[in-house]
Amino acid sequence: MNKISVVVSCYNEQEALPLFYEEITNVASQIKDAEFEFIFVNDGSKDKTLEVIKEFRSKDERVKFVSFSRNFGKEAAMFAGLKKSTGDFVSIMDADLQDPPKMLIEMYETLKQGEYDCVATRRVTRKGEPPIRSLFARIFYKLINKISKTEIVDGARDFRLMTRQMVDAITSMEEYNRFSKGIFGWVGFNTKWLEYENIERAAGETKWSFWKLFKYSIDGIIAFSTAPLVISTIMGILFCFMAFIMIVFIVVKTLIYGDPVSGWPSMTCIILFVGGVQLFCIGIIGQYLSKTYLEVKKRPIYIVKETEENNQKKEVVI
Ligand code: UDP
Ligand code: MG
Repeated sequence: MNKISVVVSCYNEQEALPLFYEEITNVASQIKDAEFEFIFVNDGSKDKTLEVIKEFRSKDERVKFVSFSRNFGKEAAMFAGLKKSTGDFVSIMDADLQDPPKMLIEMYETLKQGEYDCVATRRVTRKGEPPIRSLFARIFYKLINKISKTEIVDGARDFRLMTRQMVDAITSMEEYNRFSKGIFGWVGFNTKWLEYENIERAAGETKWSFWKLFKYSIDGIIAFSTAPLVISTIMGILFCFMAFIMIVFIVVKTLIYGDPVSGWPSMTCIILFVGGVQLFCIGIIGQYLSKTYLEVKKRPIYIVKETEENNQKKEVVI
């Protein structure tokens, strides 16, 4: 009998979790030829999320959980869940029912046939989202796909069902700066895409502010492309070339017309402009350097405070 692991990252989801649990157990009972395990990752929630999960556990042996010592972010939570999973097939889902659990049935049917290694989902609409956020999201996907070799699908959700083989490939990537949308593409494998319309949150509210998403998109670009470094190099070459032409022009002009003092406003503009470009390029290099710095420190991606096996005992997992 196959085993399906469902990984759910939860951050302050006390309202949504009971609804989610009801839905997922319902779906699990409809899939007759597989057993289930539900892995809830409590990402340092400040509300009663952990208590809610423990209550599920007390009634249902299939429920497992990992509770972090603080909020490490969704990426760390997904990684912890994937590492803990033991199923032949592993699914990642949000706790807020924006990823409809009943799609799991179709996903499982597809994967069982063995042609695909992964069934993933993408949103074809973004209704219910602020227009400015949709606009920036579209620009981001266009940009990153131009400058990165890894395919990052527009509107792709983290919601997917994967084979053990693909999950092992993902957990073997132990980078600190994790950008899952890129990692899923990077590991390869055959992916089938299911499309669906955006569904609004069942309860609670989104944890992603515009600024958080913006920083996340920069992380994605830095993690999966070195094009910004190339751009700054090309800009440098271009400016040297321009400077060379201007030097020749000014020398010739001075020799012919003499040297009356004029043109200082334009000079100021040029100095400011070039200074700005230089700072911009140093900033780009700084971004890569800071990521490298965090990476070489080899800090653990998350720290576990508690699991269903060892309540309270503290352990550090890399
Ligand atoms: N999440 C998490 N850690 C965080 C932020 C979010 O584990 O620091 C979880 C959250 O509980 C939810 C999922 O990630 O299950 C998606 O978050 P959310 O619904 O807020 O994002 P959105 O759907 O609005 O993009
Ligand atoms: Mg959501």
